[in-house]
Amino acid sequence: MIRIVVNGAGGKMGREVVKAVAADPELELAGAVDPSHKGEDAGILAGTERNGVTVGGSLQTVLEETHPQVVVDFTSPSVIFDNAAAVMEKGLSMVIGTTGLTEKQRTLLQEISSRTGANALIAPNFSLGAVLMMEAAEKISAYLPNAEIIELHHNHKYDAPSGTSRLTAEKMGAARKQEPCEDRTAESIPGARGAVVEGIRIHSVRLPGYVAHQEVLFGGEGEILTIRHDSLDRKSFMPGVVLACKKVLTVPGVTYGLENYL
Ligand code: NAD
Repeated sequence: MIRIVVNGAGGKMGREVVKAVAADPELELAGAVDPSHKGEDAGILAGTERNGVTVGGSLQTVLEETHPQVVVDFTSPSVIFDNAAAVMEKGLSMVIGTTGLTEKQRTLLQEISSRTGANALIAPNFSLGAVLMMEAAEKISAYLPNAEIIELHHNHKYDAPSGTSRLTAEKMGAARKQEPCEDRTAESIPGARGAVVEGIRIHSVRLPGYVAHQEVLFGGEGEILTIRHDSLDRKSFMPGVVLACKKVLTVPGVTYGLENYL
């Protein structure tokens, strides 16, 4: 049994992770952390039966009391680096779903990993369909270098553009064999053409009703190719999270992207 602490256990993703960990025979929910839900039962909070795991308000205290092997983090971009550094300094491994870690921060976490032996998987998207969508986008980019991304999420999402769209653009940029056409459009209102990552425009939609969705549009001579992925339920992320919890202890260092674990 791998002992897991869920950080952000009261959030939309954290509640699903609590249920997924409890349902897997190889994983054990050792503890749960969420300052907004301190003192509540993690099972009841997740909408299931009482499981006897009381949500703690401090990650540090819960780690000392529960001695986990892996911490799963779905909190917020504003706290993820400090959380991850504190956990990995203790030599504990991390499965990080929280978005917003910069390249520099990922390098700093790799330095901690080299010193302490803690491993980490940082995955902007844990759904298999989204990973395949990124892989397809990367392949197509080698042939159709002109592309834009539209990502659509619920209106409570903390960051824009999404971690998935950034990673998709990075992969597409690296796979491109030709430079895209020059963009000659002048913005009459700044931001009208979206954010730019690796020369690829990313447009972020935030509306109630959406979960997590992404379209990649490729333009060629007289043709358009569009690929789209829709996460309709947060359950779609759980097989990836469970897989990562089982594998993170055996893959050394800091890994970026679930595709490296498949
Ligand atoms: P949410 O707001 O519903 O939940 C976040 C929870 O974290 C809240 O309950 C909050 O109280 C708690 N929290 C905040 N600071 C904390 C701290 N210092 N310690 C412990 N808990 C803390 O958000 P969400 O929709 O569950 O998303 C969380 C993160 O996961 C976001 O960054 C989001 O973009 C990301 N996300 C990733 C994936 C993926 O597949 N990788 C999928 C969906 C969402």
